[in-house]
Amino acid sequence: MPSYTAPVKDLQFVLHDVLEVAASDIPGYSELERDFTEAVLNEAGKLASEVLLPLNAVGDSEGCRLENGVVYTPAGFKEAFGKLREGGWNGLDLPEEFGGQGLPYLMSTAVGETTVSANMAFNMYQALTHGAINAILAHGSEAQKATYLPKMVALEWTGTMNLTEPQAGTDLGIMRTRAEPQAEGSYKITGQKIFISAGDHDLSENVIHMVLAKAPGGGEGTRGVSLFIVPKFLVNEDGSLGARNAVSVGKIEEKMGIHGNATCVMNYDGATGYLIGELHKGMSAMFVMMNEARLGVGLQGYALAEVAYQNALAYARERLQGRDVTGARNPDGPADPIIVHPDVRRTLMDQKSFVEGARAFTFWGASLIDRAHRSGDAAADGLISLMTPVIKGFLTDKGFEMCVAAQQVYGGHGYIEDSGMSQFARDARIAMIYEGANGVQALDLVGRKLAADGGKHVMAFFEMVKGFIKENEGDDALKRDFLDPLKAASKDLQAAGMFFMQNGMKNPNAALSGSYDFMHMMGHVCLGLMWARMARAAMAALEAGASDADFYKTKIATGRYYMARQLPATAMHLKRIESGAGPVMALDAAAF
Ligand SMILES: Cc1cc2nc3c(=O)[nH]c(=O)nc-3n(C[C@H](O)[C@H](O)[C@H](O)COP(=O)(O)OP(=O)(O)OC[C@H]3O[C@@H](n4cnc5c(N)ncnc54)[C@H](O)[C@@H]3O)c2cc1C
Repeated sequence: MPSYTAPVKDLQFVLHDVLEVAASDIPGYSELERDFTEAVLNEAGKLASEVLLPLNAVGDSEGCRLENGVVYTPAGFKEAFGKLREGGWNGLDLPEEFGGQGLPYLMSTAVGETTVSANMAFNMYQALTHGAINAILAHGSEAQKATYLPKMVALEWTGTMNLTEPQAGTDLGIMRTRAEPQAEGSYKITGQKIFISAGDHDLSENVIHMVLAKAPGGGEGTRGVSLFIVPKFLVNEDGSLGARNAVSVGKIEEKMGIHGNATCVMNYDGATGYLIGELHKGMSAMFVMMNEARLGVGLQGYALAEVAYQNALAYARERLQGRDVTGARNPDGPADPIIVHPDVRRTLMDQKSFVEGARAFTFWGASLIDRAHRSGDAAADGLISLMTPVIKGFLTDKGFEMCVAAQQVYGGHGYIEDSGMSQFARDARIAMIYEGANGVQALDLVGRKLAADGGKHVMAFFEMVKGFIKENEGDDALKRDFLDPLKAASKDLQAAGMFFMQNGMKNPNAALSGSYDFMHMMGHVCLGLMWARMARAAMAALEAGASDADFYKTKIATGRYYMARQLPATAMHLKRIESGAGPVMALDAAAF
């Protein structure tokens, strides 16, 4: 049975040593003093390891079940959800007027990492609610906010996001669900949505579905799509629950992982729905929330890699096989622990350096979201829009890869379900697919985000990297091990951008054949920048005589590994990009 301890020291390091949150000018950040965030993270960590982790395997083996139209979650989920509710965890970053605590989004991101590491399937019931709350906050009328938000913030009601249909996944413009206007102002929603996470369950008394559907007069494609609130139980004037709405669960999908989360086929048979936001502007209403939702999925990637790594490390320390080639380390035992072997070290370093870099990248992204929302900073908004597909695509690809790497440390035992390592890999796999498949994230990055606003956000990113290098070049140790590799990788990234500019217009396939490589390349450069920032912070702490010198030295060594062993991947990605569409598109579709 896997274990999990919230890495509070590492979380604190990013918040305080790297991002220096308490000194930030972002409104609300001054509240995030070291002691305060430590206390919150310790509490969250306790809930994660004592309550949620033990239910992770239960959720995986038991799954959810549909009986007579009612969805039941695995044993223990209901009680644990009650604890989440009682602790007020859902409202951490939500407005105080609706019962939240009004803390920065960054704080709920840090807490969210611990919940996802411990039990991703469980976390999704809350995460989807959070998404629906954000939709209502951004687009709901005052009456809608008053009706739904207090109950949803308190987790008495939960939420879902209904986009996907059998024939409409990535291409939502071809959706068929219809919305017919009614005389009294509501709509009748008819159609089928599939793969709806947390679609129904026994954790809350009502489920508030956010449903995309086509209302008359909107025309073809995504332009015709509007967003509707469709409650499972209609809500009376006084806020009490009324009649059951005409929405039902067709089935629960059998799937590869996240068995503890009910992935439902939802049937809408003339269900009562209420328009939210502007008619025929449903897609843009949905997309307002995308930065946050996609950052949350990127977080799932590395949070699962974190828990998988923690277990791989413990196993590598105790599993005895073979001898250290430089001399026995455990001469009295039958063999040495496998952590002595360079190849096992390599994989542990891959995992560790990825997770810690990814955490810094995600937290930085969350701080950009806070800056954009709380300070109304357009540059931060532009930058996070650019980074969102990278956070989602790169961190979930690598997160899955690292879960597999952690499983590999267990050898055959990792393949056997008892170890729990296979669950991490199976759970991590979905993050590469939902919330926009990773290939589509790469398309978004190269096809849209790079050129957005005349390319000014990517230029701002390059300037930021250049500025950081210039500012710190005087430090020889930082320059040799961190800044020089970062400069080389950033040059590769700029060369790839130049290739797209020169070739993409005349042949879009030339750019899109390299889009996936570009997404990974940019992910590496971002993690390289994060490691350079972390190394600088660790060096500064050592110079200041920090009491825990080993912690900071370990950070620097881990960063050096990333720069030496991972960052050079940009050169390979550039080569692939510069080969253009030729090799990729050489075969006619019929010739495969
Ligand atoms: C467990 C689970 C939970 C989910 N939860 C939800 C939920 O809560 N709400 C919800 O609405 N949906 C949900 N989904 C649906 C999910 O978001 C979609 O599966 C996903 O967006 C991809 O759509 P699709 O499966 O139809 O694949 P398709 O759109 O058919 O794509 C198939 C492949 O083609 C590629 N592709 C498609 N178009 C392009 C293009 N233009 N350029 C390049 N490549 C392209 C994709 O990258 C993908 O690899 C969930 C899915 C699963 C499996």
